[in-house]
Amino acid sequence: MNREPADDLPAPGEPLPSPHGEPGGGDPLARDVRFVPGIGPRRAAALAQQGIRCVRDLLFHVPRRYLDRSSTLTVAEVRAFLADPLRAARGADPRREVTVIGEVASFRVMGAGRRARLAMTLADDTGSLQCVWFGGVPYWRRTFRTGMVLAVSGVPAFYRGIPQVVHPAVDRLSSPGAEEEGGAGKGDWRGLLHTGGLVPLYPSGQDLERAGLDSGGFRRLIRQAMHLYLDQAQETLPAGLRREHGLVDFSVAIRNIHFPPHAAALEESRRRLAYEELFLFQVRLALHRRRIREEPGIPFKVESALARRLVDSLPFRLTSEQVKVVREIAEDMRLPRPLNRLLQGDVGSGKTVVALIATLIAVENGYQTVFMAPTEILAEQHHRTLAGLLGDLPVTIRLLVGAQPARLRRDILEDVRRGTAQMLVGTHALFEKGVEFANLGFIVIDEQHRFGVLQRATIRSKGRNPDVLVMTATPIPRTLSLTLFGDLDVSVMRELPPGRIPVRTLLREESRLEEVYDFVREQVRRGRQAYFVYPLIEESEKVDLRAAAERFDRLRGHVFPDLRVGLMHGRLESGEKEEVMRAFKAGELDILAATTVIEVGIDVPNATVMVIENAERFGLAQLHQLRGRVGRGSDQSFCILVPRSGYSAASSGQGGEDLARERLAALVATTDGFRIAEADLRLRGPGDFFGTRQSGIPEFRVADLTADGPLLEQARTDAFRLVASDPGLAREEHRMVADHLRTYHAATLPLLRVG
Ligand code: ADP
Ligand code: MG
Repeated sequence: MNREPADDLPAPGEPLPSPHGEPGGGDPLARDVRFVPGIGPRRAAALAQQGIRCVRDLLFHVPRRYLDRSSTLTVAEVRAFLADPLRAARGADPRREVTVIGEVASFRVMGAGRRARLAMTLADDTGSLQCVWFGGVPYWRRTFRTGMVLAVSGVPAFYRGIPQVVHPAVDRLSSPGAEEEGGAGKGDWRGLLHTGGLVPLYPSGQDLERAGLDSGGFRRLIRQAMHLYLDQAQETLPAGLRREHGLVDFSVAIRNIHFPPHAAALEESRRRLAYEELFLFQVRLALHRRRIREEPGIPFKVESALARRLVDSLPFRLTSEQVKVVREIAEDMRLPRPLNRLLQGDVGSGKTVVALIATLIAVENGYQTVFMAPTEILAEQHHRTLAGLLGDLPVTIRLLVGAQPARLRRDILEDVRRGTAQMLVGTHALFEKGVEFANLGFIVIDEQHRFGVLQRATIRSKGRNPDVLVMTATPIPRTLSLTLFGDLDVSVMRELPPGRIPVRTLLREESRLEEVYDFVREQVRRGRQAYFVYPLIEESEKVDLRAAAERFDRLRGHVFPDLRVGLMHGRLESGEKEEVMRAFKAGELDILAATTVIEVGIDVPNATVMVIENAERFGLAQLHQLRGRVGRGSDQSFCILVPRSGYSAASSGQGGEDLARERLAALVATTDGFRIAEADLRLRGPGDFFGTRQSGIPEFRVADLTADGPLLEQARTDAFRLVASDPGLAREEHRMVADHLRTYHAATLPLLRVG
């Protein structure tokens, strides 16, 4: 690992780092969770898997939801409710859902085969309730234990004189034997329930549950931890900020988020803790950004004959947005500090030329440059595009990808080491060991959302503070970009080059595929080309790959036997991929059937149709990217979304049919990437936004990047203001923030030295 201070910032998909607190050291919450009675090695291991290592982590393991005691009934109350002949007349909803808390008295499977059902009797002090499942029988049989305390919710009815609920929702509150590792037992629940209020239900998982850490287990542990440590816990937020925003104290917030006396206290606590998470993260970004800006960068001379010659040779004029962004970049390059900028511009807005101009400035100053793409196909395409744009300019550009013959690779590496390769195009493999640059001065990262703050810092270390320009065509909602790219300056290109006709987007059910095929055939007859895309979310998913291969064969063999159909997926050898792309680009193929490998960057202006099958499986941002592959020429283009008929929550994996419908409707309704991005974030949440869990977005435990936009803006403003006014966090009123970083993010310390 490199020991850069940026190590402190989160790696892709990982929760925020947590400390390995030494016992006895400053903050008591930094202590290992094993200091909490009831946590032995087994529980510690299960907790560690969830990123819970110290007491503070445990206290931040907040309930996923709460059971409102006021809406639960005893069995006797359920009976009375059902027995009341006038309940409808009294205005009570006869199908009212109720929640009952009780112990599993018995359970058994009745019937056999497809008729099998599971009957479970739940008992409280006032009687018993029958719960029945016709599905998931093996699961429930494995799960239930007599003596388990559950909260079951559903619509009750009398069945043969016994109150019954079919397929209730079940929350496990406590397991028999959960007391083993400490704390009170299930009887404890009664006490709690009788006191009223909201009952916390904790996120758990198989390993945690096996270690006795279901909701009941967590409740006991957290109460223990609060009892032992919360009184000594330090406040983490400066008093001024707490006062200004009306935030409750740390210990109050922790207590009330776990055991809220009422809904208002819960909301207050949640707000305080969410603010804290966002604020502390933004303080780290602010320090990080400040450090980069204070480092000596390369003061480029920005008048460049090469760049001038390039611009003069282009077959088009730069748009005003391109000119604006080139100016912003050049200004950063001129200054003696490293450029660290994000360029956002919708698909087709012309970012490549902008990056090339900047690159040429660096080359003219005698520096090497790197152009990094997310996949080898794109790297190859970029190499071709850039070489084409360069024409006969005296610039040496080389491509470095995995599949090159060993000798060629050696040659290229040698050129890179000697500095004779002025532009190097490739994937993230460019930054592996063995690639050494003579004098790397400018780095372009295209479409790499997985490159969070940490990865960019690693790349930066390949040169001596080179400039880094990150480009993305995925419109990123503001909350995500403030988190993922919060250390960067931002440039936005809002308009497309003139003459583009917006793509027409259509939704067609699978039953109308024949029409879609006819339409494609007609476009091909007019000399156009088409894409057919199938979902293959992860290239490793064998089932998907097989399904895609079958569809490809059918397209080629049965649907379009008379047309030239090429196949493209991630499993092809890199040489094959290149050949297929070349043939499609050259018009030697009519149709390209592909998996999502073509998602970003592929540029074939003659392609006017994009058919996306199983469209319900893609995220919005991803669909928008795919759609951006057409509409790149001067003809009207079409994007046809074909969702699978009867798709369900289980098969879509994206939150069910309604959400999928909403997503597709949003895409049909607008081509504005930013509106689409906001909708996608709302529909899917930050974790899935980029269609992959490895997105580089830190996981907050309380803050919610979908809902907490305004809070994030506030926290960021406060954090950046604080760091600007007191870069060393040296003032007495900021000491708690410095202490916190020292304890939990030790790698931030070098950033603090700047005083
Ligand atoms: P993206 O921003 O999606 O990477 P590209 O850089 O690939 O977009 O540009 C898309 C297409 O638009 C390319 O074919 C490019 O040559 C062309 N292009 C770029 N700038 C202009 C311009 N100012 N006028 C017309 N066409 C342009
Ligand atoms: Mg591009």
